[in-house]
Amino acid sequence: MEAVKLQRLEPKEKVGLVVVITGNGKGKTSSAMGMALRAVGHGMHVCIIQFMKGDLYSGEMDGIKRLAPDVELHLTGKGFCGIMGNPYPYKEHRANAQDAIKLAKDKMLSGKFDILILDEINNALKLKLVDLPQVIDLIDSKPRLMHLILTGRDAHPDVIERAHTVSEVREIKHAYRQKIEPQKGIDY
Ligand code: ATP
Ligand code: MG
Repeated sequence: MEAVKLQRLEPKEKVGLVVVITGNGKGKTSSAMGMALRAVGHGMHVCIIQFMKGDLYSGEMDGIKRLAPDVELHLTGKGFCGIMGNPYPYKEHRANAQDAIKLAKDKMLSGKFDILILDEINNALKLKLVDLPQVIDLIDSKPRLMHLILTGRDAHPDVIERAHTVSEVREIKHAYRQKIEPQKGIDY
């Protein structure tokens, strides 16, 4: 890259945002990862907690390690609850998600992170693996300057209401519907 001096903007007032990425299209988790990548460039510290993951390998599990110690990734759970082929009972998914909520609260209050990403938490709420008051409590007890990012389909209206930025990723097409199996680097 050319050695041009880039202007670095500083907001006059720093605000810790609540960001929701929801919808049925592809790009929610990868959008959150993109913000983590961007934050690292600013010397910020990011904690990512993934709900309902941990049964299938995804590239970010090792990709994020290259950003350590500025970014830490915690996988919780045993894959998507209620999806055909996932053998674990609801009770187990619920217990895992409850552990993830506790971890989220600990990380949030540790004061170590500028951004906390709760990946698939909207989904976990929809599937009743966590309860609405638990998610609202997390949002309400967020340190003032910390950013909180919540991803997953079917975001709850009460969560959307509390967020500053909400994006809905809408499926226009998905390779899956053309019988193309998930591809490395793009889908996982
Ligand atoms: P990504 O992780 O690629 O950003 P996402 O978080 O928006 O996707 P999820 O709903 O979490 O999407 O789905 C997880 C994985 O399933 C992704 O790899 C995605 O490509 C794939 N996927 C998304 N939508 C569909 C679909 N309709 N059918 C099958 N697979 C899908
Ligand atoms: Mg996702």
